[in-house]
Amino acid sequence: MSNDYEDICSVCHRTESVAGKMLKMSDSLCICMDCLQKSTDMLNQSPYKEMLGMDPAAMAGMFPGMNLNNSTEAPAGIQENKTEDITKISGEDEPEKKEEKKDDKPKGPSQPHGTFFLNLNDLMGGNINPRTKIKKRNPDEKKEPIIKLKDIPAPHKLKAKLDEYVIGQEEAKKILSVAVYNHYKRVATDTMDEIEIEKSNILMLGPTGCGKTYIVKTLAKLLDVPLAIADATALTEAGYIGDDIESVVSKLLAAADNDVDKAECGIIFVDEIDKLAKKPNTNHRDVSGESVQQGMLKLLEGAEIEVPVGATSKNAMVPMTTVNTRNILFICGGAFPDLEEIIKARLTKQAGIGFNSELKDKYDKDKKLLHKVTTDDIKKYGMIPEFVGRLPIICPLDSLDEDALVDILKEPKNAILKQYQKLLELDEVKLIFDDSALRAIAKKAKEKDTGARALRAIIEEFMLDIMYEIPKDENIGTVTITGDYIEGKGGPIVEMRV
Ligand code: ADP
Repeated sequence: MSNDYEDICSVCHRTESVAGKMLKMSDSLCICMDCLQKSTDMLNQSPYKEMLGMDPAAMAGMFPGMNLNNSTEAPAGIQENKTEDITKISGEDEPEKKEEKKDDKPKGPSQPHGTFFLNLNDLMGGNINPRTKIKKRNPDEKKEPIIKLKDIPAPHKLKAKLDEYVIGQEEAKKILSVAVYNHYKRVATDTMDEIEIEKSNILMLGPTGCGKTYIVKTLAKLLDVPLAIADATALTEAGYIGDDIESVVSKLLAAADNDVDKAECGIIFVDEIDKLAKKPNTNHRDVSGESVQQGMLKLLEGAEIEVPVGATSKNAMVPMTTVNTRNILFICGGAFPDLEEIIKARLTKQAGIGFNSELKDKYDKDKKLLHKVTTDDIKKYGMIPEFVGRLPIICPLDSLDEDALVDILKEPKNAILKQYQKLLELDEVKLIFDDSALRAIAKKAKEKDTGARALRAIIEEFMLDIMYEIPKDENIGTVTITGDYIEGKGGPIVEMRV
């Protein structure tokens, strides 16, 4: 298993594919030939040699093939030592001379050969984090495509699968199924370059809790590709406090078990993208907004990116690897709170010959306003044109109404109610939610204005008592949750076993 992963030099943190063959000291300690050469060069110079008491002749025996005296940076003053060492290595050293040298050594506990490598290990804190191991790639090996054309479900099948989990959002499910299918068809047949089709990155617009993340998660699961979810608000321009932009690719790499090939056909979902909008009237440098948009351009387009492995920012202590983002599907999502106003203003202006007040009213009532969005509206919102241009597919989502919330409670394959029913079934208790209860929960959730996200919190609140009390009495057979119980006007109906 560990053979599938690249070794990483404990000193310079380069991977095997970059630094070449490694000398493996233990499972967690490797050193590349460059660093080994540098270390031995250094040790060959006084005063280190004297301090450590290393015998170059013995070292030459330990690492055959290494040039232990080839120090290019040796200062002129140590020339004498160098000639001495050469004679030692070639075995012409006189025994008396060697004795003499040994006597010169500072007195202290004898140093076994290789002590300095142990010190190095201490310095590294012992083990290399397994998260930072990178899966090996063999350039000579005929690459089997990770995604095969026959494995990609056709858009209608993808949508049918999505329907099992996601309620409503019909248009979004359709747009995404087609976009994802086309993307992976290109990846599987490797025609991304040939026809030079633009990458079909996607921009999802919709209020919080309407299922943006959930749809993407479900899609990634259905397609069995790695998925990384990043929050745009945590990103900043490189060098500032916050996560570097490349960290989103690091996350994907981690989701793909550090297998670069697998990561290169994964999905990256960047949430809260609207928070990167240009801030109007600011005089200071906008390191977390517009600069992040700029920084993301090359990721979105497809480029070779050097990413830290197992960390969110580049520094000397983390290994790096190169990931090509050409085949990575980027999906950006955001609530874009005032976007509807911008759309409304544009539409009103377009149709605005007289009767303005009437027209304004008309769009006020339009629940599908977000579906009329254009790239110009998004630019107006504060996204830079280059950024919008790299997200050619726009996918608006609807806010969820009470009916949709009721369906979300009971319909999906992994619906919350089904989960609770299953739990109580293990205690041989039947849990029933009557219609008034479902309505009451949906109504409460709607008031919170956080979409379907509020549902779980509400259910958990009143289910706590039920989950606590029911196992107390083995005679309970059925529990019915009513609207009155949800509204605090009564209790659940409990029926005993017959
Ligand atoms: P956001 O749009 O803010 O990304 P999420 O996708 O995170 O919202 O939704 C939060 C939770 O609400 C999800 O985990 C999911 O369980 C539920 N949910 C949201 N929308 C739907 C939907 N359309 N169908 C089924 N469940 C949904």
